[in-house]
Amino acid sequence: MGIFSGFKDILGQINKLDGSIYLKGKDFADVYAKNIALEEEIAARTKELEQANQTILTLNTVWEMMNSSQPLSSMLDKIVSILHEDMGYNFACILKLETENCKYPYLNVKSSSVSKIVNNIFLQIDEAKETYKIPYLENSLLAKSINERKIYSTPDIKGMVKMLFPRLTEEQLIQACNAMTSKSCTVVPLHSGNENFGCVLVSSERDGITDTETNFLSLFANQIELAITVAGLFEEVKKQAITDPLTGIYNRRYFEENLIKEAERSLRLKQQFSIISMDLDYLKKINDTYGHQYGDLAIKTIANVLKREARSIDIPARIGGEEFNLLLPGVDSSGAAIAAERIRKSIENQVLDTIGGITASVGVATFLEHSDRIDELIELADQAMYKAKVNGRNQVQIAQNSTDVDWQKVAVETFMDILSKKRIPVSENIALSIKQKLQRIKTEDKNSNDILYSVVDMISQTYNQMYKPGTTKSKQLLAVLLAKRLDLPKEEIDKLKIAILLYDIGNIMIPEEILNKKEPLTEEEKTIIHQHPLIAAREILKPISNIQDVIPIIENHHEYWDGKGYPSKKSGIEIPITSQIVLLVDAFYAMTQDRPYRSAYTADEIIKIIKEESGQRWNEKLVDDFIYVLKNEQIQ
Ligand code: GH3
Ligand code: MG
Repeated sequence: MGIFSGFKDILGQINKLDGSIYLKGKDFADVYAKNIALEEEIAARTKELEQANQTILTLNTVWEMMNSSQPLSSMLDKIVSILHEDMGYNFACILKLETENCKYPYLNVKSSSVSKIVNNIFLQIDEAKETYKIPYLENSLLAKSINERKIYSTPDIKGMVKMLFPRLTEEQLIQACNAMTSKSCTVVPLHSGNENFGCVLVSSERDGITDTETNFLSLFANQIELAITVAGLFEEVKKQAITDPLTGIYNRRYFEENLIKEAERSLRLKQQFSIISMDLDYLKKINDTYGHQYGDLAIKTIANVLKREARSIDIPARIGGEEFNLLLPGVDSSGAAIAAERIRKSIENQVLDTIGGITASVGVATFLEHSDRIDELIELADQAMYKAKVNGRNQVQIAQNSTDVDWQKVAVETFMDILSKKRIPVSENIALSIKQKLQRIKTEDKNSNDILYSVVDMISQTYNQMYKPGTTKSKQLLAVLLAKRLDLPKEEIDKLKIAILLYDIGNIMIPEEILNKKEPLTEEEKTIIHQHPLIAAREILKPISNIQDVIPIIENHHEYWDGKGYPSKKSGIEIPITSQIVLLVDAFYAMTQDRPYRSAYTADEIIKIIKEESGQRWNEKLVDDFIYVLKNEQIQ
């Protein structure tokens, strides 16, 4: 029993061992099988991960693109190329649904890949890609996808191509399908806000579409939609920044930016360009007679004529209220004159609701012909336009190739004449010293303005002990700023600059004891003082031929708006505007200085005094503009 039972025992142990060996073997087989399954899963997950990575990368690219504020068209092109090149679709396109301004809605191809195949199709159906319209058929897969905002996939490539290009013959259709080598086609709807934008159409060599792919495409579509919305906004904002809201043509800023660019190009290539400056005639009357909205209508009409008559490279812009400019790249003055006349005629031929007809005054100036500086070019075009106004409006004037009356030259010659012909009583020494100064202006051209001012200072000091040297420069600056605010043309401003130097010269003939008297003047003395504009105009300056245009400004520089001035008691618009400017500027500076009979006023006191006499001594609008200039410009 002992041996048997011992053997049995050993056998039992062997069996146990066997069993365990068997069990272990079974475990190994399990582990092996599990390993294989795991490996498969890892491979599948890696693939998914790669796909997810690719998705993230792609979405990231679209996201970056969105933030770069590219124009919508280039964004859509980029999206199509990502789908085609990175995501492995053998055809991709973006279609935009167009419903406005058309009888039937259609799909517009905004961007598409495989342009060779597509171009070939367009050639076959005799259509330009830019103008091709895909019919938007209600029951088509495209319409279904867009309307239901759902992704649809189909293996029917032929049906899809036929729907996109219904005019292909059967043979052409087969050719196109073969060229595409696709097995399935997927439509992904796109919308922006509440609006249906259109869809993305992709085809691939894979049969059907997996859930992962559907997920990816819908994520991708979301990004495209965001891009469309953002780009659309960018374009809107960009458009707003360069266009004038009332007329839709360009604004002043855009015009000026392009003017600078054009001038650089013109200087580089030595090629002329022109600008046309235009101003609606009698707008104020239109506003007053028919109301502001009809004034607006007149402005819009001019803008529309400009849009219609301009070439695509021209830049029509609204510069201010009723002022327009047109930039004509590469056009010389004779070409611009023809264009300007065509535009003028076209404006004249418009028939407007209620108003009837309108006209405009037009000026033309050409870069490299009239000036090679843009500020001067604009000024010359404006002057030509102003000349058209003065000459009776509704006409075109070309800028003068200005043998411009150089105001400095005229001033120097005038002072020379006054001193050498002894038209004023100054000592020999002073006369000599002034003549030497004037001579220096002829030889040096630097600081000639300052020399002229000092000549005026010297002459003024001979008769006015209280005269404060240095004020002539400030007076001239203030007068010019005011004239510019009033939009006076350059010629008028030049005359004004000379008048500022000479307007008080008649005082030199007034007895010194009257001029410098501390007590109030008697009536008789006042009458003598009141002669000074006439003395200047008729005795001193009259014989000097090149100053004739300036004399009326000086003669009238003490006339008051209400007719109570001197010497001729002219009133209102009988008084040249330049004389009114001299009166106001002179009064302002007189009040800033001490006088024998009073001390200087403060700036606030002066403004108060000037305002009190607004509408009497000076025109109200002039006073407003004057105060504006004082407050807003740098005047020392
Ligand atoms: P001229 O022939 O000398 O150019 O006379 P005008 O009346 O057209 O010119 P003026 O400079 O005397 O008046 C311009 C008027 O245009 C004054 C201003 O109120 C008006 N105006 C400016 N901008 C607009 C606008 O956008 N709409 C309307 N309706 N009127 C405007
Ligand atoms: Mg006008």
